[in-house]
Amino acid sequence: MNESFLVYHEPVFRPPSEANSIILQVTHGCEWNRCTFCEMYSSKRFSIKPWSTIQKEINLLSGLHPSANRLFIGDGDIFAVDFETILQTILLLKKSFTKLRRISSYASSRTLNSFSLEQLKELKSAGLDLLYIGLESGDDQVLSIMNKGTTFQEQEKAALKAKAAGFKLSVMILNGLGGTEYSQNHAINSAKLLNRIQPDLLALLVISFPLGYDHFKNRLKHPFEALSQLEILKEMRLLLSHLELKSTVFRSDHASNYLVFKGGLNRDKDKFINQLDHIIEHTIQVKKPHINESRFL
Ligand code: SF4
Repeated sequence: MNESFLVYHEPVFRPPSEANSIILQVTHGCEWNRCTFCEMYSSKRFSIKPWSTIQKEINLLSGLHPSANRLFIGDGDIFAVDFETILQTILLLKKSFTKLRRISSYASSRTLNSFSLEQLKELKSAGLDLLYIGLESGDDQVLSIMNKGTTFQEQEKAALKAKAAGFKLSVMILNGLGGTEYSQNHAINSAKLLNRIQPDLLALLVISFPLGYDHFKNRLKHPFEALSQLEILKEMRLLLSHLELKSTVFRSDHASNYLVFKGGLNRDKDKFINQLDHIIEHTIQVKKPHINESRFL
C-alpha cells in the first residue's frame, strides 16, 4: 500500500447508524458468503488484511481524522479474524484515536460461538463496544433454507455470550424471508429468539432481491413465493404482537421498509400495532408480490 493514501475495497457496507463513523476494513468480504438472500459481498473474495497493512491504515486514518469519536470495522464479520489480531487492532485504535468513544463491527453468531466468554470480555474491555448481528430469522427451517449456517439455539447462545461479555447488541430480522410458506413460523420464532436475547437495538428490514427475483429463486434450492406488500405488513404485525421486550430500541427505517417505525419496545408496541391494524384494514389487497430489486440497498 502506498504510505500516503488508503484505498477502500468496494463495495463497502455499514449500518445506517454508522454514517458518520470512520471505516477501517480489517477484512474484505464475508468469510461465509453463502446466505441465499444476501449479495452484499458476492463480488468479493474473502481475505484478512496483513497486520502490517492494518497498522499502516490506522496510522493514516488517525492522522486524517484525529478527532474521530466513532469507528466501524469492516467488512462482514470481525470474528472471522483471530483473537490476537482483533485485540491488537482494538488496542492500536484506542491508542491512535484519542477521542474514540465507540468501536463497532458486524458479527455473526457462527463465528462468535468460536470465541470464549473470557476472550469476548477481553475484547470488550479493550474497547470494542457494539456488535451488529444479522439474525435474519429465529426459525430453523428458514435459516436452513436460506443457508444461514446457524440455528435458533446457536444464535441465542452467541448473542447471550456477547451480552454477558458486556457488548451492546444491535440485531437485524428480515421481514418476508420465509416467503408465503413460512411467514407465520418466521414471525413467531423470530419474536421468540428476540425475547430470549433482549437486544439493545432491533432493526427490521425487508427482504430484497438486488440481482433480481429470478436470480434469487435460481440460487435458492427450495420453492419460494414472495409475500405481497400487505402480507409483509401482516407478518410485521405478527412479529410485533409476539415480542416481549423490556427496553429495546426498535427501527424499521431502512430503505427496504414500507413503514417507518422508531420507538421503544415494549413501550410503543401497542401504538405500532394499532397503526398497523389501521393501515392493513385500509390497504387494498395487491396480489402482486413484494419484489424489491433495488441495487442500492
Ligand atoms: S448475511 Fe451476513 S453472513 Fe450471510 S452472506 Fe451476507 S454478510 Fe455473510
